[in-house]
Amino acid sequence: MWEASQLVIWQHAGMKLLNSRTITLNTWDFDNEIMAESSEGVNSAQTKVVRSCYSGNPDKCFEEFRSQGKYRNLYQVENNTADVVKSPNSVRFVCISDTHTRTDHLLEGGVLPEGDILIHAGDFTQRSRREEIVAFNEFLGQIKHRFSHIVVIAGNHEAQLDATWTGKTLFGRKFKVRERVVPSEAQELLSNCTYLLDETIELLGVKIYGSPWQPEHHNLGFNVPRGEPCLAVWNRIPSDTDVLVTHGPPLGIGDRVGECAGMRVGCAELLSTVMERVKPRYHVYGHIHEDYGMWCDGVTTFINAATCHTPRVNLYTVPQNKPVVFDFQL
Ligand SMILES: [Zn+2]
Repeated sequence: MWEASQLVIWQHAGMKLLNSRTITLNTWDFDNEIMAESSEGVNSAQTKVVRSCYSGNPDKCFEEFRSQGKYRNLYQVENNTADVVKSPNSVRFVCISDTHTRTDHLLEGGVLPEGDILIHAGDFTQRSRREEIVAFNEFLGQIKHRFSHIVVIAGNHEAQLDATWTGKTLFGRKFKVRERVVPSEAQELLSNCTYLLDETIELLGVKIYGSPWQPEHHNLGFNVPRGEPCLAVWNRIPSDTDVLVTHGPPLGIGDRVGECAGMRVGCAELLSTVMERVKPRYHVYGHIHEDYGMWCDGVTTFINAATCHTPRVNLYTVPQNKPVVFDFQL
């Protein structure tokens, strides 16, 4: 039995990696494939994440990870912080995601708690049309007085904000001229928030990193192939990140599609990066509407904040999941 057959945390006493941007590491050779390494993603302790050999098969990878005990410390956390007074010397975060144009109910009394920082983890539109982005920004304008800061990332539905997206249609429909948006307009159109695209912002003493990418799924936005390409994206996350915001979930935690016993679709490389290298205090995401919830492994609290509950979103779907609130202790 090959121990840790999917994930290798490479801890190296030498400085070789720091001296070279790309280096082939011969200590790990699986299925005749030698892992190519880069110096990105190495933290101060030189913890190195290597991609899983089962990256392309999340269900199988999940079983392997589970047999290795990666989820053994995980427990569910109740989302009840909104009901208690904010802890002293803390920053209160309110998290929503996957609203898919349905923000109307969040304006009703008592639905959206007040806080210091509001996070939206992507999929605020349905088809990334200009009018949807403008409407979302108007919604943010109506609630911005209730927060010190609002931080937003894109999701796969915001395909027009992805500079690498080459699709001509989304969900079978072409964009009309008035619906089109170019990625460089994102922050301008989202003037009522800070829009993060693979970058960090420090707010109220908390370092927040946001990234919209997720393992590829159909021809939507911010798709990246599983395995090494995903790892390259996550290697950009600074190791001193306090709150990580991604659109997609890590493998095995809030990533199950279907109502019960469904497939796992989270990213193995994201889980490895979070658990073994970055170890943020909080990881906020959405994308998989059916697996909303909050879990903790004693190091990181994982939050699937998907506001829409149903897997298929349409205009008649009422978002059901309440915003997730936590206090970040300074
Ligand atoms: Zn969504």
